Amino acid sequence: MREGYDKLRKKHRVPFDGHFSVADAPTAPPPDTDDDATLKKRLRRINQELYELQRLQYADGRHALLLVFQAMDAAGKDSTIRTVLRGINPAGCRVVSFKQPSREELAHDFLWRCNAALPPRGTIGVFNRSYYEETLVVRVHPEYLAHQNLPGKTNTDAFWEKRFEAIRNYERYLADNGTLILKFWLNVSREEQKNRFIARLREPRKQWKFSPHDIAERQHWDKYMHCYEEALRATSRPWAPWYAIPADSKPYMRVQVAKTIRKALKTMNLRYPPVDAAVAENVDALIAELERS
Ligand code: ATP
Ligand code: MG
Repeated sequence: MREGYDKLRKKHRVPFDGHFSVADAPTAPPPDTDDDATLKKRLRRINQELYELQRLQYADGRHALLLVFQAMDAAGKDSTIRTVLRGINPAGCRVVSFKQPSREELAHDFLWRCNAALPPRGTIGVFNRSYYEETLVVRVHPEYLAHQNLPGKTNTDAFWEKRFEAIRNYERYLADNGTLILKFWLNVSREEQKNRFIARLREPRKQWKFSPHDIAERQHWDKYMHCYEEALRATSRPWAPWYAIPADSKPYMRVQVAKTIRKALKTMNLRYPPVDAAVAENVDALIAELERS
């Protein structure tokens, strides 16, 4: 089991004791936050550090990092993934987006499709949406459960608690096997979501991102917030913490996400693997041999 979870970043972290409250989680940055230009510059610097750290993570090869992003529409999942991970060697990082499940995926247990997409050790895996949808959109729309053909009673309190328990056990198991999981809830306000939807509709190059379905989902806002609250309370743990990141300012949100990832990579005590003695003790001789060849 990995040590050092207590060294992970604490800012915006969802407590592990089940006392998280969505109503108390800010969507706006704190009042003393730097201006956008300063935040953007800071992110650029962190991008460089993340590049170096990921290089080392790859060479070290003992730890995987799984980043899970969940949010209401237009909170900025895609652009956060793009800007925070920009500069990282694509060979060491893979982003997977989870949409409505296919027939084949529905015929399996709810962790199956995500399990197949987990990052190998030495790399970063990013889930743009995840198995958490099974406790969010599916809970808001329990009629989706009918497609899953599950045995036994569904959509009861006990049923959802079982899903949380399955997720907790699964994440614990992953942690014990070398995967550190950081989960980000990008917490956008209802008002800001509306503004972003309107901006999407006004900008021809962004209209494709808008679906009339997005307006329908907005009507379920309170139910979504209740489901997020329950999911975050039940599944924030030291080895797989949730971070509730204020998302009404994108520059602030991105810096917070980037700092949290940087800290996590730093806690891994990454090191370059030992060099083979046949190489380490004969560097000059090997160079001389190459020069002759
Ligand atoms: P954007 O922010 O650009 O709209 P997106 O992630 O919302 O990106 P979409 O194609 O709009 O992508 O939506 C994917 C949809 O798939 C979401 O509405 C999400 O709730 C749904 N979805 C994801 N996982 C599941 C699941 N397990 N069961 C049912 N629906 C799911
Ligand atoms: Mg969408």
